[in-house]
Amino acid sequence: MLDVLVIGGGPAGVVAAMRAGDLGARTALVTEGEFGGMAANDGPVPVRSLAHAARLIRDARQLARYGIQVGEPLLDYSQLLGRVKDIVDDVRAHSTFRSQTDSAGVQIHEHAGMARFVDPHTMVTKSGLTLQSDKIILCPGGTSRKLSVPGAELTATHSDAWGLSSVPKSIVVIGGGATGVQVASVFNAFGAKIQLFQSGPRILPTEDEDVSAAVAAAFRESGMVVREDFGSIESFEKSPAGIRMHFSKNGERESLEATLAVVAIGWVANTSKLELAKAGVEINARGFISTDEFLTTSAANIFAAGDVTGRLMLVPQAIQDGFVAATNAVRSSEMKLLDQPAPIGSFTDPEYAQVGLTEIKAREQHDIASARVDFKSTTRTIIDGRTTGFCKLIADRATRKILGCHVVGERAVEIAQLAAVAMAGNMRVDDLAQVPLSFPTYAGVLGRVAAMVTRQLNLDLNWQGNLAEGVR
Ligand SMILES: Cc1cc2nc3c(=O)[nH]c(=O)nc-3n(C[C@H](O)[C@H](O)[C@H](O)COP(=O)(O)OP(=O)(O)OC[C@H]3O[C@@H](n4cnc5c(N)ncnc54)[C@H](O)[C@@H]3O)c2cc1C
Repeated sequence: MLDVLVIGGGPAGVVAAMRAGDLGARTALVTEGEFGGMAANDGPVPVRSLAHAARLIRDARQLARYGIQVGEPLLDYSQLLGRVKDIVDDVRAHSTFRSQTDSAGVQIHEHAGMARFVDPHTMVTKSGLTLQSDKIILCPGGTSRKLSVPGAELTATHSDAWGLSSVPKSIVVIGGGATGVQVASVFNAFGAKIQLFQSGPRILPTEDEDVSAAVAAAFRESGMVVREDFGSIESFEKSPAGIRMHFSKNGERESLEATLAVVAIGWVANTSKLELAKAGVEINARGFISTDEFLTTSAANIFAAGDVTGRLMLVPQAIQDGFVAATNAVRSSEMKLLDQPAPIGSFTDPEYAQVGLTEIKAREQHDIASARVDFKSTTRTIIDGRTTGFCKLIADRATRKILGCHVVGERAVEIAQLAAVAMAGNMRVDDLAQVPLSFPTYAGVLGRVAAMVTRQLNLDLNWQGNLAEGVR
């Protein structure tokens, strides 16, 4: 009998197993496929590698502006996929997770196939393993949500990018959330004709409204068709070009053709094969496993961590969940999830990122001061020819606490991350305004926007450098 059995070898499962092993528990990790889960094999690492290739193409297109003469960049997609595979292998080879998990004494069962419950303490895997454990931590992650319309089986997901032998001539991307915009942006840079379809009124619906508007405008300017509020899809069928999508709005029917249709309409928990009912584990209305703040499920000996809980579906949160769930599994519920500012961003062109409240949410809950600096007025973006975008900062008037930061443009993700550090350190906006950030840098915009908010609050600044940056 094990002390802790962890299901799923993604970031949540690996950290849970490592932590349980470190705390002295007899621990086993079982995963359907490769160690590393989606983050290493099908998510951030390979997708960022494609996004880096897209960036190189756009950088190459700038060379002539700086007097460097080379031809138009030409992409060899299969060679790029080779490079992506090398990167994935390299990241895996250099990951310390595997050696740390081994040295924590964890038994690792890779390629075990799907595990399912027999009873609250027993699980069997498709490969034929039977494992019994006092505590079980479920970290099976999630998978792309499918459309349920006729012909949906003809569509692809982001994962199918790895099986393509060349860049499709045209792609219709259905879904304007984080995954859909990345697919659209990357393949636009690779030369595919992109149509991005969003059923709601704006792409990136969970971002600040200014971010959605700026990214949609930049996408349109780069040649993509962006259709927001397009209605609903009726069906797909094979067509001479590849696929035809039929859709309608208010009774008006339309159709379009593309080489490929990629569906990115959200994420569902990977629970269908687990036979959760046999263990008494309940799911919530959205289909994710319900947990309390200690990550305990409705069954007292079973915990859940990572994407399967349906909270922020990102690697840092999965890692934190894994750590908390394992600590509580071994030491009996003593650690709560931390309520920390969580920077979120995406490596599209232009990048976008955020931390904290959107302006609308902040206004609902606080009396706010807010300022926005457009990238076209900052020195570094002008030097680098990357003037699309802005940085917006929101603070509470009474407490001067920073409530949110929203960025579109070059290095947006790094800028929002710096704002997150300021928020986590409880810096007030006037404190941030007085940090002499290096000049000329992308991060400098944060000091300047903080100085503008500070001015609105009628506070004096001892150091005006950040404010001066933009008028240089
Ligand atoms: C295209 C894309 C880009 C992304 N980009 C980013 C990014 O830039 N930054 C970021 O932070 N996050 C990003 N994410 C999200 C990130 O990948 C996930 O949040 C993270 O991988 C979740 O970790 P996890 O451990 O919960 O699940 P996963 O990584 O999904 O791992 C779960 C593992 O469990 C296995 N499994 C499932 N069911 C069973 C079962 N019954 N038995 C045995 N094994 C099972 C699965 O095969 C898988 O290996 C991205 C995701 C996608 C799809």
